[in-house]
Amino acid sequence: MTDRVKTLTGLKSIVVKIGSNALTRSEGGLDENILINLCSNLAELIQNRVSITLVSSGAISTGMHQLGLRVRPKRMSMLQAAAAVGQYVLMSHFAQALHRYHLHAGQILVTRSDFEDRTRYLNLRNCIDALQRSAALPIINENDAVAVDEIRFGDNDLIAAHVTNLVGADLLILLSVVDGLLDKNNQVLSVVHAMDDQVASIVRPEKSSRGTGGMGSKLIAAGTVKTAGRPVLIANGKTPDIIRKLLQGESTGTLIMPGKKRLAAWDRWIMTHQPSGIVHVDTGAAAALRKEKSLLAKGVVGVTGIFSAGDIVEIAESGSGVLGRGKIKFSSEEMNKIKGLASAQIPAALQREKSPECIIHKDDLVMF
Ligand code: GLU
Repeated sequence: MTDRVKTLTGLKSIVVKIGSNALTRSEGGLDENILINLCSNLAELIQNRVSITLVSSGAISTGMHQLGLRVRPKRMSMLQAAAAVGQYVLMSHFAQALHRYHLHAGQILVTRSDFEDRTRYLNLRNCIDALQRSAALPIINENDAVAVDEIRFGDNDLIAAHVTNLVGADLLILLSVVDGLLDKNNQVLSVVHAMDDQVASIVRPEKSSRGTGGMGSKLIAAGTVKTAGRPVLIANGKTPDIIRKLLQGESTGTLIMPGKKRLAAWDRWIMTHQPSGIVHVDTGAAAALRKEKSLLAKGVVGVTGIFSAGDIVEIAESGSGVLGRGKIKFSSEEMNKIKGLASAQIPAALQREKSPECIIHKDDLVMF
């Protein structure tokens, strides 16, 4: 069995993302044929008891067409207006296309903060789950009508990666208008095993014209899913029956192989969360962390940023960059008082009777 067939066999839950360029026509407006074909492929999977979550772009682009705007507006309020008009049209087309398979369309609009707050994050998962049990296809997009620059994801590749990690899906499929990751000679890379600098350097950096993503954002999104131990397929959403072809093992698109370890739900949440600061560690601590030990104050050499106890922080080793992420038990202010100390010295340094023995417990730690 090839890597491809082995990786794509027996999948129970899949997240599919389709980009604006794939879903709309170059002259503007929704590409009905693509949308209908996508729904038929997804309905077939749902009939075969695969849980499907769709992340769909195209609201702004569809809204631009409705409003007669030829060029993507620069003003945020106009982009919001286009999204408000387009999102509704987009969803009504999905609802119509799914109706012939006796499926409903369930719209979920998200902002970055929905992934930051643990309760909202879990509610989002419950809603997706309930839709799937109710013969409805969850269709997710960013809430572009209210998301302003500072709180925007900006592109749906990352939202799709976060959703994959949220629901613990077995596969993420990113559909755009290119055939996969292309090397400098325009050849599609069929299978990628490691997301190393070599891959980043050979991938062409072009961005899409009607959406906001590009190969760069796809690589970042794919990296997050790979680290969580799940595979990613990048393929051309304009190819008829692309999902069916990919899952039947046809050698099209790029398959990014999953990392070795399948992360549990708690670890995937830690990965998804935006870090509030950085904890810098020495070489000894870095080696212990790699052996899945907890982080102790002794190995901390400094912190960057202002964070509270319970926040998610990045862990970095000077020279090696970011090592991982974890839930910290002390604030940045406290960290500045206890860095480099032995655990037994911490209560006195913080003028407390007792305090946690470690800075980040191994169960609250994800190494990249
Ligand atoms: N949320 C945007 C839309 O629906 C698309 C963002 C993207 O291109 O990834 O228009």
